[in-house]
Amino acid sequence: MALIVHKYGGTSMGSTERIRNVAKRVAKWHRAGHQMVVVPSAMSGETNRLLGLAKELAPSSHTTAYARELDMIAATGEQVSVGLLAIALQAEGLEAISYTGWQVPVRTDSSYTKARIESIDDQRVRADLDAGKVVIITGFQGIDGLGHITTLGRGGSDTSAVAIAAAMKAAECLIYTDVDGVYTTDPRIVPEARRLHTISFEEMLEMASLGSKVLQIRSVEFAGKYRVPLRVLSSFTPWDIPLDEEAKSGTLITFEEDENMEQAVVSGIAFNRDEAKITVMGVPDKPGIAYQILGAVADANIDVDVILQNVSHDGKTDFSFTVHRNDYAKTIDLLKEKVVPHLGANEVVGDAKICKVSIVGIGMRSHAGVASRMFRVLSEEGINIQMITTSEIKTSVVIDEKYMELAVRALHKAFDLDQDAA
Ligand code: ASP
Ligand code: MG
Repeated sequence: MALIVHKYGGTSMGSTERIRNVAKRVAKWHRAGHQMVVVPSAMSGETNRLLGLAKELAPSSHTTAYARELDMIAATGEQVSVGLLAIALQAEGLEAISYTGWQVPVRTDSSYTKARIESIDDQRVRADLDAGKVVIITGFQGIDGLGHITTLGRGGSDTSAVAIAAAMKAAECLIYTDVDGVYTTDPRIVPEARRLHTISFEEMLEMASLGSKVLQIRSVEFAGKYRVPLRVLSSFTPWDIPLDEEAKSGTLITFEEDENMEQAVVSGIAFNRDEAKITVMGVPDKPGIAYQILGAVADANIDVDVILQNVSHDGKTDFSFTVHRNDYAKTIDLLKEKVVPHLGANEVVGDAKICKVSIVGIGMRSHAGVASRMFRVLSEEGINIQMITTSEIKTSVVIDEKYMELAVRALHKAFDLDQDAA
């Protein structure tokens, strides 16, 4: 008998019929002798609907008072889900009880709409489990030190589930979703993409941060920090498939490299079209320049990703970096108003039609020449590389957005990730 956490996404909770299916699946696990904690999302579309109502009354504002109410409103989506699932489980003949984040409680800081979990009290939940009940806890939310309801940011139920699994030292946290696992790349772009049976935690972290949207990145960070065994699997398999088959399906996120396993050099190709490139031209090449440019950007709470500084000619250089596309206009304005005049730079130019394509794999650590193979593949396709960044287990390039699909397909094939190559 083990303590298991299941997380169900919005699509899996999308209708009463689907909720009944979730209940039957959970009941199967419970009857097999496991202690079950279930963390569902709001029914699909519900969080958007709720936040939309708020915007109808007042356009979004950046005040804390407004953000607090958004959390008050959005948190109700998950509250409905847990109550419905508890009723469905009771209808299956199980004892089930639901809790909101503040009832557990799941304590967070006070950053409304993007709060971070600080601690989880497992006493109440443990007592229920020991009494033979299935416990259902709202995803996405918690309570701050002053008793205000908070939410963890969009997609935050993944993080709730992993955090609860960590706090309760669960044997495994299973994330049931509308895809059947983590793929070598997005199958909508490369139909030959393969499901990975395992992926290392570090690779998953890169894939998630590079735009593969299977898991909220914070949940992966949490799993890494507390070593929570995590599995991503489909909620659309029939609920009555044999439990041991289900328990092995999907993609397992692992922590130790399996020595016996033939490790692919590259495990996946990630891409991200949410970035934009900005270049400050003709900046004087002297100490403190990067700080002056990026310091101003950081002060405005804008995250910078890839950074590139060229060699200088006649004491002047160009300084480029990428930001999220939503921050593009704001960053350009800020640089024009506050930075360029002080720096004596020539001008600021930008390009929002770029994308970042990355190869990811822990196998890269022990294999030289992986990056150069990537560059050769891109050059054979006639794709110009604008920026490059590398880490131990990934190489990313910034290219023109219109070549994204071509680049992803070519790389997927070149690194032997296509299905038939396996
Ligand atoms: N319902 C929330 C959202 O849509 C949280 C989640 O589903 O993970 O972002
Ligand atoms: Mg999600």
